[in-house]
Amino acid sequence: MTAKIIDGKAVAAEVRAEVAAVVAQRVEAGKSRPGLATVLVGENPASQVYVRMKQKACAEAGIESFGYNLPEDTSQEDLEKLVRELNADERVNGILVQLPLPKHLDEERVLAAISLDKDVDGFHPVNIGRLAQKGRKPQFIPCTPAGCMLLLRKNLDSLEGVNAVVLGRSNIVGMPVALLLVEANATVTICHSRTKNLPDVVRQADVLVAAVGRPEMVRGDWIKPGAVVIDVGVNRIDDPSAKNGTRLVGDVAYDEAVEVAGAITPVPGGVGPMTIAMLLQNTLKAAELSDKQ
Ligand code: NDP
Repeated sequence: MTAKIIDGKAVAAEVRAEVAAVVAQRVEAGKSRPGLATVLVGENPASQVYVRMKQKACAEAGIESFGYNLPEDTSQEDLEKLVRELNADERVNGILVQLPLPKHLDEERVLAAISLDKDVDGFHPVNIGRLAQKGRKPQFIPCTPAGCMLLLRKNLDSLEGVNAVVLGRSNIVGMPVALLLVEANATVTICHSRTKNLPDVVRQADVLVAAVGRPEMVRGDWIKPGAVVIDVGVNRIDDPSAKNGTRLVGDVAYDEAVEVAGAITPVPGGVGPMTIAMLLQNTLKAAELSDKQ
């Protein structure tokens, strides 16, 4: 039996429609229109595409976006000054500093400068710290990990006691996903580049989240029959048969895994669309928080 295909595009569209409806209601009721500031430093083409997609999604949901494009050689001081100005700007509910930053900038200091109430990417060290502490709630949950969790919850009755394996321990995907799975009472194994016998570890997984950035590394015979597979990887590989000579694949060999898994996210169309949907949700939440202040 082939796996159920988890349609991230459809789930993301549902979330975006819900956000748009609530935004319309709040504006109708005379409350402020939520606002998101996007800060892009330099001219990384992938980052430019992501920021444009985020701004377009904001517009569709009725969220105002304020774009700041800074030159590649922006100083740490100037970037932090902008963040402080945005912290104080009442029109701005969420601040998104697009990563990665140019190498001369200290990402950790920039992220820590963002007001906790506007940290819609959820990368402020206090938000991540709260995620790691039992019984504490972060103000915002990082968007891609939150998207993975929503897809899992829609496809599993419960995560309680399931064996979850997370491939990757990055600050933006692997580690926060692992922390969220622990919070959901899964038993979590975190794997990385030094993990031994990786295929054997993955074979124990009832739930597998792959976020390594290695095209099709996870083979079909690594997957436990019936497992739910969330493939976060986005990798461009050569494909002479494709129109532009390349195509996107995940970290999981989809054609093999789909024969074994119980449910699986495709790439593209799985986790990818969820990130922006969760960003809109976080921005709305930030606006709701500001109502109470
Ligand atoms: P990073 O490069 O920051 O982290 C990769 C992780 O994978 C590291 O923890 C690394 O281990 C581990 N790793 C690398 N090679 C291996 C290996 N051979 N075996 C086991 N573990 C390995 O990547 P990100 O977390 O930023 O992104 C991961 C993937 O997800 C990428 O393809 C990225 O494009 C995609 N992505 C998709 C998003 C979306 O869909 N919205 C959003 C963000 C990312 P170690 O720590 O030891 O180096």
